[in-house]
Amino acid sequence: MTYTAKRKAKVEIPIENEADLLKITPLGAGQEVGRSCVVIEYKNKIIMLDCGLHPAFDGLSSLPFFDEIDPTTIDFLLVTHFHVDHAAAVPYFLEKTDFNGRTFMTYPTKAIFRWLLSDYVKVSNTGRMSDDDILYNEKDMMRAYNKIEAIDFHQQIEVNGIKFTAYNAGHVLGAAMFVIEIAGIKILYTGDYSREEDRHLMAAENPKQKIDVMVTESTYGVQSYEPRLEREARFTKLVKDVVVRGGRCLMPVFALGRTQELLLILEEFWENHPELESIPIYFASALAKRCMLVYQTYIHMMNAEIQKKFLTSNPFIFKNISYLNNVTHFDDVGPCVMIASPGMLQVF
Ligand SMILES: [Zn+2]
Repeated sequence: MTYTAKRKAKVEIPIENEADLLKITPLGAGQEVGRSCVVIEYKNKIIMLDCGLHPAFDGLSSLPFFDEIDPTTIDFLLVTHFHVDHAAAVPYFLEKTDFNGRTFMTYPTKAIFRWLLSDYVKVSNTGRMSDDDILYNEKDMMRAYNKIEAIDFHQQIEVNGIKFTAYNAGHVLGAAMFVIEIAGIKILYTGDYSREEDRHLMAAENPKQKIDVMVTESTYGVQSYEPRLEREARFTKLVKDVVVRGGRCLMPVFALGRTQELLLILEEFWENHPELESIPIYFASALAKRCMLVYQTYIHMMNAEIQKKFLTSNPFIFKNISYLNNVTHFDDVGPCVMIASPGMLQVF
């Protein structure tokens, strides 16, 4: 999220009572991209929205600026989606600070959070980071995971007199935006969201309420994308050109999020082009394989199109894509498509 106001800027408004002032403090993602974390304070109620790590830094320097707040004063924490820059500081905040409030995220976000952060812990422990830079271990992560309360979209929840409701945000499975009501003031907070429906996710909902204040993700500002279908056609043509001339098409991708959309695109393209049937598509990610079960479980949180497909077969059980647990023992015999994390592709 980009926030243009200075983090410590004080707004000089003559006000009788400090508590009547709505204060918004970005502890991360203010004038930067990464480690989303925003604290909102009004009428002596304080909530934290998102709790991510900055992917470009390691250790303590990747955390949001928690020193700016007293964690014991936070009523609760809401997490929009499972991406590292929105959720990966949660185990640290829950286990290594004095925060004792409640934490909420949607069911699929919580399910993927566990596998994603377990993988993050493993990667941190394999020598990539020095001991001082390791923020939490698997036990801390599981303790935090067990404290998280899973919620449904549109379920209104009330904590300490503050009401909130999660709305579908598109972007990735389970991604939410929140409408929060404190003393009659309605605040809409969005993490990453997408207003365009894709193969499996619905577009972000319009909460259709009178919103007083909106705090929104704006990384891409007013930039517009090439239309989705044109982008997809360009992508599939490129893949086809490579494999048809006998090449290996290597795709470095992160295990979760947009990758599931890529898999659906390739599966559909292979189905519609029987001449490609003999060319294998490999997906080398144990993490993605593990999380595929979550995707298979939460079809009902996706769009109408994929739910219709689900009536005949599970769209996340692929006919043309196989999983590889390890690329080091891979038999490279001919054209193929290989989708893997950038680190794994270096081995390949
Ligand atoms: Zn995201």
